[in-house]
Amino acid sequence: MWCSNSGKKTGPAYSQRLILHVDADAFFVSVEQVLRPELAGRPVIVGGEDRGVVSSASYEARRFGVRSAMPIVHARRICPHAVFLPPNFEAYKAFSSRMFAIMGRYSPAVEVTSIDEGYVDLTGTLRLHGAPLWEVASRLLDEIRSTLGINASGGLAGSKTAAKMATNLAKPNGLLYLDPARSHLMLGRLPVGAMPGIGEKAQHVLEAHGISTVGDLAAAPLQLLRRLLGRWGPKAAEIASGKYGSPVFCDEGRAQKSYSMERTLDRDTTDYAAVRGLVRKLAEKVAAKLRADGKAAWTIGLKVRYADFTDVSRSMSLRRATNSNLEILACVEELFNKTISRRSPIRQVGVRISGIDEALFQDDLFRPYSGKGSDLDQVRDMIRGKFGFETVRVSGCTASGAVIPSPSKGPLLGSRLGFTCPEAKRPRA
Ligand SMILES: [Mg+2]
Repeated sequence: MWCSNSGKKTGPAYSQRLILHVDADAFFVSVEQVLRPELAGRPVIVGGEDRGVVSSASYEARRFGVRSAMPIVHARRICPHAVFLPPNFEAYKAFSSRMFAIMGRYSPAVEVTSIDEGYVDLTGTLRLHGAPLWEVASRLLDEIRSTLGINASGGLAGSKTAAKMATNLAKPNGLLYLDPARSHLMLGRLPVGAMPGIGEKAQHVLEAHGISTVGDLAAAPLQLLRRLLGRWGPKAAEIASGKYGSPVFCDEGRAQKSYSMERTLDRDTTDYAAVRGLVRKLAEKVAAKLRADGKAAWTIGLKVRYADFTDVSRSMSLRRATNSNLEILACVEELFNKTISRRSPIRQVGVRISGIDEALFQDDLFRPYSGKGSDLDQVRDMIRGKFGFETVRVSGCTASGAVIPSPSKGPLLGSRLGFTCPEAKRPRA
């Protein structure tokens, strides 16, 4: 017994580390089904347009083989009768913050890992709740269900990794408690690919060396793992053995760790000038989000997906964190020039800014610094916030993403400062 409601309320049960991992089931689709009850019980797929990929599929659609990240075209082929919907991120964010608010009522230590997934550290809350913690976990999931109308699954275990693996076993709409003293017996039998952090490639490498289960990984010689997985190898073994206990990062966990945007092109193209324009546009939008949050970033990354679904990602780290539009655009340009040497048709591009830091740098000692960027960036962000992104164009980027051949062809307000500004379209009253 690891908890009790009677007798002396001290002892190992009260201090035992127990972490609950919560993951909403088919989150985007579930939100859509709450907003449109007529979709309940039907195959529903949320994703981009025809050339995009599946973001979320209901379990009814999954029965036909539809999976996340599958091209929409393929999903349409295998599940033609499904309802296809574009993503509605505003609604998803609203549901997400309500879900994490519920989690925060059970413990102040909540780590947000994605829009629909996170950890609650229930360690030391036994006396507070006055009930076994697996019962508390079950109550939390019930509250998400009854308040938001969406299902969430959970895993309760002695570490974050074990809790996440338990959730994956409990899905959909389930809860699995793994006694920390015995969890390694159950998790050790799982395929090595079931451990978070072991991707498909690492799984193949490990299996080729006879490491096919999580237990094999825990027992493997560290030298071999270092050779196969690099510095991650020994840590992976520690995690697999259940000895590694990363803490639940509360405030830091809530902070956004990266900013990114991706776009799938209407058709595969070798028109690199147009793709470059689109990449610049994405970079500017991501940089504006960074400035709006008063943050700066150390690393700028670019992803290019070719028509054959080969992905090439490049990133560069800077000497100091930045949120400057011009600096971020310069990095993206450089990455783009290095990346497109392959001369193949491009299908999708994405920009990712990571290594997020508080925007603490201050170029002018005598001017209070807001963290919102230079004067020029602030003016541009303000105009775009009021009249739309397309009202201000940085030289070299048109609304459609194509390169502007000559600044003289468009309105030139602000061109001396590095951007052009067509007449602002005032919204009609
Ligand atoms: Mg989920």
